[in-house]
Formats: sequence, C-alpha cells, structure tokens
Amino acid sequence: METDGESSSSLKQIPYYKKIVGTRFAIDAFNYEESPEITYYLLSHFHYDHYIGLNANFTGNILTSPITGRLIVDRIGVKTNHVIMVDIHQPIVIDGVTVVLIDAFHCPGSVMFLFILPDGKRILHTGDFRASPEMEKNNFLTEKPIDHIYLDTTYCHPDYNFPKQGETLQMVIDLTLEYLAKEPKLLIVCGAYTIGKEKVFKCLCETLCMNLWVPSSKLQVLLSMNDPVIQQHLVLDKDDAQIHVLPMTDINHEFLRGYLRGCRDRFTSILAFKPSGWQNNEDSSSAIVPAIQDNVYIYGIPYSEHSSYSELERFIKFFKPRMITPTVFHSDSKFRVMMLRSIAQWKSTYLQNGDQQSSA
Ligand SMILES: [Zn+2]
Repeated sequence: METDGESSSSLKQIPYYKKIVGTRFAIDAFNYEESPEITYYLLSHFHYDHYIGLNANFTGNILTSPITGRLIVDRIGVKTNHVIMVDIHQPIVIDGVTVVLIDAFHCPGSVMFLFILPDGKRILHTGDFRASPEMEKNNFLTEKPIDHIYLDTTYCHPDYNFPKQGETLQMVIDLTLEYLAKEPKLLIVCGAYTIGKEKVFKCLCETLCMNLWVPSSKLQVLLSMNDPVIQQHLVLDKDDAQIHVLPMTDINHEFLRGYLRGCRDRFTSILAFKPSGWQNNEDSSSAIVPAIQDNVYIYGIPYSEHSSYSELERFIKFFKPRMITPTVFHSDSKFRVMMLRSIAQWKSTYLQNGDQQSSA
C-alpha cells in the first residue's frame, strides 16, 4: 500500500512526517502548499503517490537518485537544472547537512536518505523500503547510532508476515520449470506496475535464458535502470519473447484467455504471476493455490517491496532509534493502534535495556 492519508484536492501544508526536523528538507512532498521554509525537495522513488503534484513547471530543487532523476525528466518533463542526481553512498553536503542516499530495496532507483546534521544528530528517512539484514552491514548506517527514523509503516502489523523475496523468486522458478516440463509451448506472463516487481521477471529471463517483452509504458523505465541482465534479454517484438510483462490489471482470466487466442500459433497455455505484498499471510509458500480456467493458470504470489512486520521489527531493534516517526497511516483505526503499539513495544525493549547510546 502506498497511502499516506492525504487525499484532499485543495493543497494542504506539508505534514510533519514529510519534513526532516532541524533541516529545510521535505521528502516526497510535491502536492502541498509551497513553503518558504523548504529549500530542497527530496524524492525517494518513482511511485505516483510519492511524486504526485510534481510537473514540468516545478522550479524548486529536487534531490534524488539518478534512476528516479532520469524518470522525472523523461516522463514528467521536469527541467534538468532543477534536478540534482546523487549516486548511492556518495555523501553530499547541503545547507550544512550531509545527505547520503542508501538503497531502499523497494523499486529501481528507490533510496533511503541519511541526514547528518551539523550538531551530529543522525536521522534516517526510509522512504518506501524493504528492510534487509544487508542494511545492518552498511557502514553509513552503522558507524554511529541513528537518533531518529522516519519509518515506512505500510505493513507494521503482526498479521503481515510473508516470505523473503528470495524464497518467492525460487518458488516462481520452480513452478515455471514444472509447467514447462509438461507444456513447452507455455507463455509466461508477469504482472507489473509502471515501476516495481522487476525482480520477478528478471530472475525468470536470467534463469531460464528466455527473452522478455514489455509494453511501451514499461520499456522506458527498464531502459533507465541500465540493468545488464534485462538489457540482454529484452526484445522489442513480442513474437520473439516467451516472457511477457503486462499491467497488473490485465492479470485475470478473461483478459488472458483473449491474449492467448491472439498468440495461439506459438503458445498453448499461459502461466501468469501476480505479485502482491499481501496475497498471503502465511510464512509458507505451500499455501499458494493457482486459479485455473481453460489453459490459463494464475498464481498470486507474496512478493512485497515493503518490509514484512518481522523485518521491520528486526530493523528497528537493530538500529535502536530513540525517535520513530511513522510515514504511512492506514485508514483502519485498528491497524493504526496496532502499529503504534508495536513501535512502542520495540522501543521499550532496547530503551529499558539501556542499549541506546545518547545522541550528540
Ligand atoms: Zn513505493
């Protein structure tokens, strides 16, 4: 879920959870009243609910990753002189604040922002992220304690546990091999949004050595990723590819039956994957059952680009921030209560233990 609770058409003031305390920076805040106190607008990634409000006439300063920067220039028409593209792990000093971009493991180009203020205070804004043990080995994150984390709380509820991405990708490969053994004239279809879920079809074309076709809306995004594996397998003619990427809304039996009829010279069945973060709340992938009609097999797979509850817990208990500011607020009040309760519980474990080192 990419909601932030702001849906009014009249412009509101930038909310507190999008402003970094002690700086003049705002994160993913283009759909708000202009604020003279903000000097830099940071964009964490190219998902619509994060860049909403940004258009070709924007004249402020945007700081973002090179992939996201190229996308807002090419697809939205933002002038290049307003975009500062900063590579991951290349610290930049702005207004006396050191800013470091760190891979958020969310979608291509997605980053977390680490801020080191002149007084030494360290603040991390995760943007949308999938917490990973790799982050615990990142020198920028670990060299000193992080005082304050602005946290992606999309799945901050104990019900939301799902397999690790690697487990899901392995399941996709295993299933595909199983189907291919029975039906060699199999078309493999992956549902995707404009940006995101790329790892599913990337691992398929790499492991199976198959060509990949994507719709034009996705092509520009993939090219801006500069990914050698994808570039090696990508073809422009769909007749040359056995793996097709389609919009997520097209992953249904009615559409796919028609799609199969359209390419029946080459294919006799379709195996489709519909990745979703909350398809399945089980830890085990064995609970996944396909929806089958005629020769179209659709698997909803638990593939999330946000952190699961247990990943969030591990992340917070590892970094032990004194302050945590949630950045995603669900409309369901029970969810919100559980989110706040969880955060309070996690903090109490390390604050009681006295693990948190004092900030500067
Ligand atoms: Zn996102």
